[in-house]
Amino acid sequence: MSLFSIPSRLVFKCFGKNRVNYCQIAAALRPKKGKSTRKEAQYFSDAKRVRTVGGKGGDGCVSFLQLWCNERAGPDGGDGGNGGHVILQASNDVRNFNHVSSVLRASEGGIGGAKECHGKNAKHTVIKVPIGTVVRSGKGLIVADLATADLMFVAARGGAGGKGNRFFTTDKETSPKVCEYGPPGEDSSYILELRSMAEVGMIGFPNAGKSTLLNALTRAKPKVAPYAFTTLRPHLGTVQYEDHVQLTIADLPGLVPDAHRNKGLGIQFLKHAERCTLLLFVLDASAPEPWTQYQQLKHELEQFGGSLANRPQLVVANKMDVPASASNYEQLQQQLDEPKLLGISAKMGHNLTQLLSTIRTTYERHKTKQQMGSS
Ligand code: GDP
Ligand code: MG
Repeated sequence: MSLFSIPSRLVFKCFGKNRVNYCQIAAALRPKKGKSTRKEAQYFSDAKRVRTVGGKGGDGCVSFLQLWCNERAGPDGGDGGNGGHVILQASNDVRNFNHVSSVLRASEGGIGGAKECHGKNAKHTVIKVPIGTVVRSGKGLIVADLATADLMFVAARGGAGGKGNRFFTTDKETSPKVCEYGPPGEDSSYILELRSMAEVGMIGFPNAGKSTLLNALTRAKPKVAPYAFTTLRPHLGTVQYEDHVQLTIADLPGLVPDAHRNKGLGIQFLKHAERCTLLLFVLDASAPEPWTQYQQLKHELEQFGGSLANRPQLVVANKMDVPASASNYEQLQQQLDEPKLLGISAKMGHNLTQLLSTIRTTYERHKTKQQMGSS
């Protein structure tokens, strides 16, 4: 299909004296193909199995120099170039593994040439991965933890270039007819895992309103529905404050009692919460005895192990617009020893500004504490 439709009389005019600028008269045709209805960027892929293959080294060269004054000027075969490495680099530019293909190959080194020409060293293949990527070997051992920007991990080294026949010249063997082949690069398999790079992780039972809250606070669009396990994978959303500070909030799939015994979706999603600085417990205040939700959630976190249970946390009582919540809220405040309980309604938008400023102050207080502790 031609890109432009040009009325025939105007085409005729073009060949005349007065040449016409096509760009002024031609109208671009509208594309007939409809837009894709596929939902994009809804989820992020948080684990990926990859095979990494380093580049083959370049072969050495067998060559003998002939000059006009000296027909046998000796061996001059150059070495091959080195194969490229496959390197994983933590970067702020990417947020998931969607762009990472399952086989990552580096390019081959160039072959050596006559007159001692060294083959070209191949460029390394650098793959950007999100900050917080944990690299496991095929057996499950952690081999790298790319926790800060620009950290690199050489996943597969390229083969070194083979030597040319010039290299093998000795006093005894002055005209060797041997050279080395460039060896193949390393070939290994890894599992890339993403521990969430969110600063705030939302923890709660199914239907507590976590996805609704993320929808209300950020531009993320996780699915909201009144049944359990609507959210099957973690979602991320970013809050931008007026002074341009950004905090990322993760909506983790709902935990259920006994999730550590692999009930529901299990507690595997809590690995995303491991990197979160702050945990936001979302309780359904309209449910009977919401304080038991809090105890159960704490119990599941303790079962997961690590320092997750001791993270700084905020507790919010959601669905305060439902009439039954008011009395529950007062009891909840008495039951919890946490003073930072906040009543909100994610659906109606009540108290969300206050929640955002509380998140910010708690997060910053903890960050300064961490910095003072480390210095
Ligand atoms: P999640 O499983 O924790 O992600 O919960 P969802 O965000 O999917 O919400 C579950 C149900 O609770 C949906 O039907 C929401 O409309 C409802 N819901 C969420 N927040 C509120 C709220 O503040 N008030 C009321 N009345 N309903 C809410
Ligand atoms: Mg949800």
